[in-house]
Amino acid sequence: MKTLSTSLCTAVACACSIAVSTPAHGKDPRFTLPPRNVILIIGDGMDYQQITAARNYLVGAFGQLNIDSLPKRSAVQVLTIDEAPPHNVAYVADSANGGTTLATGTVTSAGRIGTTVEDADTPNILELAKARGYRVGVVTSASVTDATPAAFLAHVSFRSCEGPADMYPGVPPGAPPGTPSLPGCLPDQKAAGGKGSIAEQIATGKADVVLGGGTGKFGQTVEEGGKTVLQLAMEKGFQYANSPATLNAIQSGRVLGLFAGSTLLVKFTGPTATKMTFDSAGNALTPLPEPGNCSSNPTFATVPSLAVMTDKAIKLLSRNNQRGFFLMVESASVDKQAHARNACGHIGEMQQLDEVVEMVRAYAGDDPGTLVIVTADHGQAVQVLNEARAGGSGTPMGYVTRLNTPSDGSVLRIGYATSHGPQEDHTGTEVPILIHGGSPAAFVKPFMWQSDVFLMMAKHLNVNLD
Ligand code: MG
Ligand code: ZN
Repeated sequence: MKTLSTSLCTAVACACSIAVSTPAHGKDPRFTLPPRNVILIIGDGMDYQQITAARNYLVGAFGQLNIDSLPKRSAVQVLTIDEAPPHNVAYVADSANGGTTLATGTVTSAGRIGTTVEDADTPNILELAKARGYRVGVVTSASVTDATPAAFLAHVSFRSCEGPADMYPGVPPGAPPGTPSLPGCLPDQKAAGGKGSIAEQIATGKADVVLGGGTGKFGQTVEEGGKTVLQLAMEKGFQYANSPATLNAIQSGRVLGLFAGSTLLVKFTGPTATKMTFDSAGNALTPLPEPGNCSSNPTFATVPSLAVMTDKAIKLLSRNNQRGFFLMVESASVDKQAHARNACGHIGEMQQLDEVVEMVRAYAGDDPGTLVIVTADHGQAVQVLNEARAGGSGTPMGYVTRLNTPSDGSVLRIGYATSHGPQEDHTGTEVPILIHGGSPAAFVKPFMWQSDVFLMMAKHLNVNLD
């Protein structure tokens, strides 16, 4: 909640050299240069196991997803530090701190949204771009108050401070077990001099387009009382859409679109994972599940797909706009469905992301003015396991799903073994980054830190003039 102090910055932990003032030379470049755009596509929890599982199922092992054809790629080391001093390195991120590093270049602790471990606000790419005349937007298949979009739209000490009714002291209810001690949401309340909950910050913030779920949070009463967060957003100039038809009808101006109480419906459903059990000698007591198939979720068509929302966002952000725009698009349930061990669920959300990549690449064309980046915030539990080996080392542990692959006619075995609990956990792998457009030869290093992704976007939008 505090203003960022440059004394907190180090080369690794903070990109505090970002300047937002008009350049000293005479002409303002925004009126003389062609538009520059950044479209950042985040697959939440999208590591290479997720991509490979999706490719095998959707197009076959010899097939190609749209993301496979992006011309530049690198590896991104995810960076996390402990909340408690001396802020040792932690090796597994969550979406809050991973998103914060992508959005701000700042390395922070798990659960934090746009804040350092000293609880200082750190400016994000969306704010920096807006201050330099760009239009800015966020599209997600989660609630717009969920950790990933929140990292681009708000500054709070903890990801659960989503709505005005969620401003608990200490670690809020629902926080994962083992969540480190944090100051809680009370210092972020307006009465304490803070900026309010994530939903209230979106309502009073400067984003031009915000599309996703979240009516549950925007229906809450604002801290001062008297109105809902949604009413506050409309007072501040947002048009509101709550269905594909109402979204389609809006042709210009600022838009808040909320199409679910929280997370949007997913595209595919399929068999639930089977928990493997063993006797004391290690012999499997549970037979492997029979191979199953994914099917289309019949209710999915009632919400706009990620591609439909992204198409609308690009039209709204680019219309009569000679400056350019920043857009973040998140396929959120790549992660959420992997937590829940729903193989068809995360494969379907990878397909949604891949549809977005196809559309965005067509929009960008060969114009280097549009930089398209596809990356992830952290790894997930999904593993592509060996279907050929039987018995002994061919007996998987954890949870297992087997799927008939439509293109290959083979069986795809997917395992999850990070946790015996009700949900799988994230993993600490480096994550992919795939790039189209921009000037990648100048920006892309063969091995990157997550904070480099922020610097790459800032450089393309020329918000770093140092
Ligand atoms: Mg997310
Ligand atoms: Zn997650």
